[in-house]
Amino acid sequence: MSNIYVHYPFCKQACHYCNFHFSTKKTGRDEMLDLICRELKIRANEVKAPLESIYFGGGTPSIIQPKSIKTFINSVKEQFQFIPEIEITLEANPDDINKDYLLNLKTSGINRLSLGIQSFFNKDLKLMNRVHDQRQALKSINLVRNHFNNYSIDLIYGIPYTTLNNWKNNLDIALDFNPPHISAYALTVEKKTALDFQVKEKKITLLDEELVKQQYDVLVEKLEQKGYINYEFSNFGKPDYFSVNNLNYWNNKPYLGLGPSSHSFDGVSTRSWNISNNHQYKRGIEAGKLFIGQEKLSKKDRYNEYLMTSLRKNEGASLTYVGKSFGNTYVTYLEEQVARHLHERNLFWDGDFLKISNRAKFLTDGIAADLFIV
Ligand code: SF4
Repeated sequence: MSNIYVHYPFCKQACHYCNFHFSTKKTGRDEMLDLICRELKIRANEVKAPLESIYFGGGTPSIIQPKSIKTFINSVKEQFQFIPEIEITLEANPDDINKDYLLNLKTSGINRLSLGIQSFFNKDLKLMNRVHDQRQALKSINLVRNHFNNYSIDLIYGIPYTTLNNWKNNLDIALDFNPPHISAYALTVEKKTALDFQVKEKKITLLDEELVKQQYDVLVEKLEQKGYINYEFSNFGKPDYFSVNNLNYWNNKPYLGLGPSSHSFDGVSTRSWNISNNHQYKRGIEAGKLFIGQEKLSKKDRYNEYLMTSLRKNEGASLTYVGKSFGNTYVTYLEEQVARHLHERNLFWDGDFLKISNRAKFLTDGIAADLFIV
């Protein structure tokens, strides 16, 4: 089974922390989904049906008209079999949400929304140059929960000048809605973004790493108390509401990424990516020739990726899986490498599974990297 990811590369304005591929130009917006549809036809042999999920990300796919989304989904359906409970998610920004929009979206086939709230406070939203404000954030959730059972509130922690209390307030407001799913990502400074420039110019001071860690620890503690399962480092869901798209990504399942800059994985050892340029992407599709980069993962790369992705999940890394997939030398290597972290109680064995303890969760990526073969 596999998954389709659609990257819609347009936004109304640039958030200061964002390094995704997108354009704020008005031209080319309407034809993009049609071009993506044509890309799917060219790459149809890469789809391993039946499909488990379709995910519209970006960029800001909530600026696409629901009728175009419907046409796209119908076209995918004509070409490939869907599992009956297929998850079809759209990332949406709060300022795009209104009642009519949601009603039309529902009939288009979308059955899950991922709402880019990021913060409920205008000061944070302004600092990040988000296009919406607090009023729109609250209003959008109230509307969405009336029309969709399955939705996620997406938040950002570690925002400059926030205190632990500010962050707790953000979480409390989100939890008051009792959403089925919450994602929370740390604000990171990506090269060549406006935030990077502001930090270098000393116009913005970043939060101390220790405070970012405290915000993450509070996030895990509060959400687990409320019955959410931290099924992946940044993702929290009520039972039955884990994101299929996210989990399949972390389980290294195959997905086909469509649209400029999107990445694909064949589920075995090949990763590929589309050109990050809307104009050249369009020229390629029109000529029936795609600009795709590709890399083959070695056994060592796949082992390292397995450790990184599995330790981020609550399930952990399976020693049996390592043995079966990579051989006994890898098992011995892993057993040797984990010793220090077991001793420091950062990691523990739960039967066959190696897991991160709650106290060390914030350090997951670094701990996984210590176990890599370099
Ligand atoms: S809306 Fe999303 S993709 Fe667009 S600039 Fe902001 S964070 Fe980036």
